[in-house]
Amino acid sequence: MPEGDTIFRAARTLQRALAGKNVTGFESVFPHLTRIHEDAPITGRTVESVSASGKHLLMAFTGDLILRTHMRMNGSWHIYRPGETWQRSRRDMRIVVTTADFVAVGFSIPVAEWVRGREISRHAELGKLGPDLLAEHFDEEEAKRRVRGRGDSAIADVLLNQRVMAGIGNVYKSEVLFACRVDPFALVSRLSDEQVSCLVTTARKFLRANVSEKLAAMTTYLGFRKTTRRDDPSERLWAYGRVGDPCRRCGSLIKIAKQGRDARLTYWCPTCQS
Ligand SMILES: [Zn+2]
Repeated sequence: MPEGDTIFRAARTLQRALAGKNVTGFESVFPHLTRIHEDAPITGRTVESVSASGKHLLMAFTGDLILRTHMRMNGSWHIYRPGETWQRSRRDMRIVVTTADFVAVGFSIPVAEWVRGREISRHAELGKLGPDLLAEHFDEEEAKRRVRGRGDSAIADVLLNQRVMAGIGNVYKSEVLFACRVDPFALVSRLSDEQVSCLVTTARKFLRANVSEKLAAMTTYLGFRKTTRRDDPSERLWAYGRVGDPCRRCGSLIKIAKQGRDARLTYWCPTCQS
């Protein structure tokens, strides 16, 4: 599943390309999206803004219409110049928004719907998101309070819960736990305040570091991501994806296990994080 930083970068790229621009074409394979388009065309509206809310991407059009998309595992937005060859198959196309200068294409997007601006706050998913780790103003105390509110859950599962904090996916889950030397299987009630504080501040630090302007590209799908401050592709992460490799701190072999209701993979060092 894309992490919050991927969606944030996608939104920023789309915002730069599309905001303030007149829509000259709209296309989708989703009947529930095109139905609105037939009744009240998207063509002719202006793109007001594109933003990220946790892992949701919100594209707002004039006339109080917001396109909410969620990428789940394989979805992504690309942006092309008119006539440019797409990097993914047309079969994977789900949504196309065209302006005079750019074509935004949503590929393999599983979740898409129209939302009215006034509906956002009581939206079943959007309204319940926890503090957004990539938001300009992040409510750290509220995030810590929400983590603490899940005392009988394993911390790794809590970090993935978007109602606790919005933005962490499976990569950052393992990386943040490693950085703070926290056992992924520990119940939240067993953690110290320092540990909870470390997890929240490190999650924000890692996510923000990975949306820095230097990484901006015109394609919005996953580029590289790092937490170690090293540029070598094989050295960019502490634990994630490194099962059987030596821990970068102590040399113990990194372990892997499926964890939680969705059996998401967790990578950790059994020595540093015990
Ligand atoms: Zn270690």
